[in-house]
Amino acid sequence: MTAFVAFAEVVYILNKHSIKGNKLSMSVVRLILTAIFTILVYTACINTKNELMAEIFYALYFSSIDWILMLFIYYARQYTNVWDEKSAAPLLIAFVAVADNISLYTNSIWHHAFRVYKQTVDSGGWFYNFEANDYYAVHLTFSYIMVAIIIAIFVRKVFTTSGFHRKRYTSVLIMFFVLILLNVAYLFANVMVDVSITFYGIGTLFIGYYTLMYNPKTLVEYMLATITERMECALIAFDEADNCVYSNQFADRMFGVKTGKKIFDERFKKWKDGRDTNSIANNTWSAVYNMGGDEYRFDVHFNKLYDKHGYYSGCYFSFYDVTGDYLAYEEEKYRSTHDPLTDALNRESFYVECKKMLEENPYTDYVMVCSNIKGFKLINDMFGLEAADRVLIRIADSIRSKMQKGSVYARLEADRFAVFMPKERYTEELFMEGMNEVSSLLNNSQYKMTILVGVYEIYDRNVSIASMCDGAFLAIDSIKNSFKNTIAYYGDMLRFEYMNEQKILGEFETALGDGQFAIFLQPVISMDGQCNLCEALVRWVHPERGIIAPATFIPLLENTGYIYKLDAFVWEQAAKRLAFWNSRGFKGLSISVNISVKDFYYIDIYETLVNLVRKYDIEPSRLKLEITESVFMNEKERQIGIINRLREYGFFIEIDDFGSGYSSLNMLKELPANILKMDMAFLSFDKKETRGQKIVNTIVALAKTLDMQVIVEGVETEDQVEFIKETGADYMQGYYFDRPLTIKQFEEKYLK
Ligand code: C2E
Ligand code: CA
Ligand code: CA
Repeated sequence: MTAFVAFAEVVYILNKHSIKGNKLSMSVVRLILTAIFTILVYTACINTKNELMAEIFYALYFSSIDWILMLFIYYARQYTNVWDEKSAAPLLIAFVAVADNISLYTNSIWHHAFRVYKQTVDSGGWFYNFEANDYYAVHLTFSYIMVAIIIAIFVRKVFTTSGFHRKRYTSVLIMFFVLILLNVAYLFANVMVDVSITFYGIGTLFIGYYTLMYNPKTLVEYMLATITERMECALIAFDEADNCVYSNQFADRMFGVKTGKKIFDERFKKWKDGRDTNSIANNTWSAVYNMGGDEYRFDVHFNKLYDKHGYYSGCYFSFYDVTGDYLAYEEEKYRSTHDPLTDALNRESFYVECKKMLEENPYTDYVMVCSNIKGFKLINDMFGLEAADRVLIRIADSIRSKMQKGSVYARLEADRFAVFMPKERYTEELFMEGMNEVSSLLNNSQYKMTILVGVYEIYDRNVSIASMCDGAFLAIDSIKNSFKNTIAYYGDMLRFEYMNEQKILGEFETALGDGQFAIFLQPVISMDGQCNLCEALVRWVHPERGIIAPATFIPLLENTGYIYKLDAFVWEQAAKRLAFWNSRGFKGLSISVNISVKDFYYIDIYETLVNLVRKYDIEPSRLKLEITESVFMNEKERQIGIINRLREYGFFIEIDDFGSGYSSLNMLKELPANILKMDMAFLSFDKKETRGQKIVNTIVALAKTLDMQVIVEGVETEDQVEFIKETGADYMQGYYFDRPLTIKQFEEKYLK
């Protein structure tokens, strides 16, 4: 029976995926097979009726005991790892075992180890009487040495292993003891049949189980408990009846718990606030807890647990201390929103804060107050950077001391501060006091610090915050010549102008796309009254405001960098018109277009213009380019280079408004233009004024020696015409002949 059970176990081991094939399971299999063999051989011993056969079976039985014990040692070695693999001891044991085996197998010849006699009993049955001779003692001694080795291995392991694993070894050890005891009992009890053999099967079952299948659950539990206990986060778990079943050390410390978990039950109940726990969704939030007087910030997680059938079985809270991250984040945030020198807000965050305040307080009226030190650069130069920094810090301190809730202030840049506050709190005294206090800081015989303040009252809340500040600084601009601390207000006029400008800029791009811009043409008349040239002058044909003159929007577009879009548009219109005239056979007419100095910085003028004349297939000389002296203000060489390339390509260059700037003669020297354009307006021309006339004469003469043609523009009267005719100038342009005309008007009159 037990042999059968043991065999079943072998089959199981060899089929179990996770354990089959490894060294340990193979040694267990070998052990079990040998045990089965032993049981079978012993069964044969006591069943055979032939004395000789019985002796042979006994020899086999004793030798298999040798092998069992030997294999047991091998197994024990592998299982416990107690014994060094390189040790020579196993070899020695194997050698002794072989010797003992030979002695046992030759026993039937010499009977030096044992002899068996068949003995019949009265009932008709029989049994074998066993008689041990000298050499049997050798076998026994060898066996007991092996038993001793096995016990030693396990005892050693039991004492050196950790608590959880101990059970795996003690159980094998105990089982082994039981087998040995049974065996010894048989020896001394002198019963007919060795019952201990039956236990071999049971013993191997034990060994197989504890060696290969036993996994101490308590170990995993212990490990998990230790980990959670020592975790750097608080854990509190509740069962399905909302009773706290677990809290780790961190949680106890955090909530000041000495004994018991009652406090958690109470807190949980309060938190639930009457809700059914199972109905509360898993959730994460952050919370502040006070521990030992300090505030800590935690990320709290609430999670529910379900068993494998999906039934709610409890929940737990975990609290992660994120105070460090939070503080780092706060500091980072502070640094990114504040000016490091004065601790005032920086520009970006100030804009954000103001916007927020406007949105959150729709019924509060606000003012934007900006300040600026007059000649701040002087302070840097005269008193040094450190002193200048001190002044800035004092200004910020002064503002801070007067600030109330509901106001924000910032250092926008350098010496520019801004305060955004409810209008009802604003008083001149509030600011004058601070200004006087700070400006008295730096005062010596050469320098008196002057602080200027501009106030912008917010009427239109949709105006950008940046524009509000601009408004306040515009007000400061109007008092920039003041020598004492002064407050200026962004007045109605100023505001109107400013808003108008904002409106123009806001509308410009759509207007350009919508075709609200058109070119007007003003004829340029030669001395014999012919017109083969005209100037393209842009007009904004506004759907509501009618025709807007360029003076209103061109300076604005130049300042904001949009002018190149308009100019490129005008040039293309002019080129298109020239192409159209070509197609109608009017090949003698040219158009002059204006080029702003800003165009040089925003686009590649050369490429744009060359592409245009190629696209419309027109002579470049028929698109004349008007350039003013202002192109000489900055990066002169670069601009001259571009202009020269344009000229080389075939464009005609006109110097516009000659004489209006300060370096006209210089320009003449360095820029080989084709045409010189001179405005009567710059000449304070008078019929009797001979000086002006002389100047005009001289300039024309000069132009002639430089191989340039001359256009006199702004010609309004007949007298002027008469005079100009005498000077030798080539063309005239002005209201006397025509105002700038629409293309249609111009073509009707001059395309003949
Ligand atoms: P500008 O280039 O000197 O153009 C001549 C200006 O004088 C034009 O003013 C023209 O209408 C005006 N004008 C013509 N004849 C007379 C006259 O007999 N008496 C007086 N008092 N004025 C006369 P407009 O069209 O208002 O243009 C003003 C300025 O705007 C131009 O001065 C030019 O600098 C700029 N501008 C016009 N169109 C463009 C353009 O398409 N692009 C660029 N960048 N600037 C342009
Ligand atoms: Ca012009
Ligand atoms: Ca001009």
